[in-house]
Amino acid sequence: MAFDTYLLKRADFIFKNENDWEKILDRTLKLPPNEIINELMSSELKGRGGAGFPTGLKWKLTAEAPADEKFVICNADEGEPGTFKDREILTLVPYKVLTSMAVCAYVIGAKVGYIYLRGEYKYLVPELRKAIKEFEYFCNEVKHDFRIKLCLGSGAYICGEETALFESMEGKRGEPRNKPPYPTSVGFKQSPSVINNVETLAHTFTIFKYGAKKFYDLGVQYSRGSKLFSVSGDTPIPGIYELELGMSLQDFVNEFGDGDTKAVQVGGASGFLVPRKKFQETAIGYKGKLSGISLPTGGSMMLFNSSRSMYNVLDNYLEFFREESCGQCTPCRVGCQQLYNGIKAVKRGEKPTSYLDKLLKLTETMKLTAKCGLGQSVANSFSSIVENFREEMIY
Ligand code: SF4
Repeated sequence: MAFDTYLLKRADFIFKNENDWEKILDRTLKLPPNEIINELMSSELKGRGGAGFPTGLKWKLTAEAPADEKFVICNADEGEPGTFKDREILTLVPYKVLTSMAVCAYVIGAKVGYIYLRGEYKYLVPELRKAIKEFEYFCNEVKHDFRIKLCLGSGAYICGEETALFESMEGKRGEPRNKPPYPTSVGFKQSPSVINNVETLAHTFTIFKYGAKKFYDLGVQYSRGSKLFSVSGDTPIPGIYELELGMSLQDFVNEFGDGDTKAVQVGGASGFLVPRKKFQETAIGYKGKLSGISLPTGGSMMLFNSSRSMYNVLDNYLEFFREESCGQCTPCRVGCQQLYNGIKAVKRGEKPTSYLDKLLKLTETMKLTAKCGLGQSVANSFSSIVENFREEMIY
């Protein structure tokens, strides 16, 4: 298959220490909101949480929504297994996130912003409070009426889903809402809200500082810019790396693999498992627009070598989903349990191999009928593991 190989290229924007954030904030707040939105739109930045919605458009829609009260919310829940980059951004360069939140507030007309922090990241609270205090002092200096509050999550994976996050912030059980309406018109406290993940906000800082073109020039068509990747599993160099989008998975494995990589799970438990035979034709970027197969990702890249049982990997994911399903809708609540029990029954020989095909059909139903991304995405890892490593499911 013809495939344009985009070589893996490193970038260094996110963790680069910029000591002029006051200047950037001051300068950006003097621009008309429309100009800021246009800059973001022309950078083609897409949300780095995994869904890939255009950030500029999100800000624009919220800015245009008629309401007296609006909010800007930073999603720092980071619950996807294998992802550990947002906590580093908040530890090392929190002012980038705070600056972008303040600019967003100016653009959409909000006075209050929230950082919804994953419960397990409680240890970050004292330093974050210090950074927020210093930041707010400067907001006062430049007469920008904006306050940032911290909200601690209670550890449920589903609370990373934007509408479940709002419910959780409002003191209710963290369950996803029906969509539409979308947060840009009905979000936190039923008010229009921009919700961006930590890394997305760090990228907008880069755009405010260096301009849209600098960002746009990185990556490939439809997948512009760089992205942080949390690299883990069977790799001699686990860690966090900023790489340009559009690289082939083969190049990624050449760089991070241990020489014996048989599969890579792209995008955490809710993502896809790519077997060795597809490394060359798979590119990391937003859907359908690159040559070969393209996979979007929130940044989790787990490498598995030949010592790993893919049955155990799938069993582990299904246990995770079974526990994290909020239980609100039947396809997900019952489906996750059925899948979990089903692969065990096949492995023990209590069900025929063909039962795996029934389970694959079940995941298709879940994809179509589950209410939110959790239930819909179980099909991704399930089908990619079962279809590519079927023999390991049986023996
Ligand atoms: S898909 Fe799962 S997590 Fe989402 S609403 Fe339904 S039960 Fe809850």
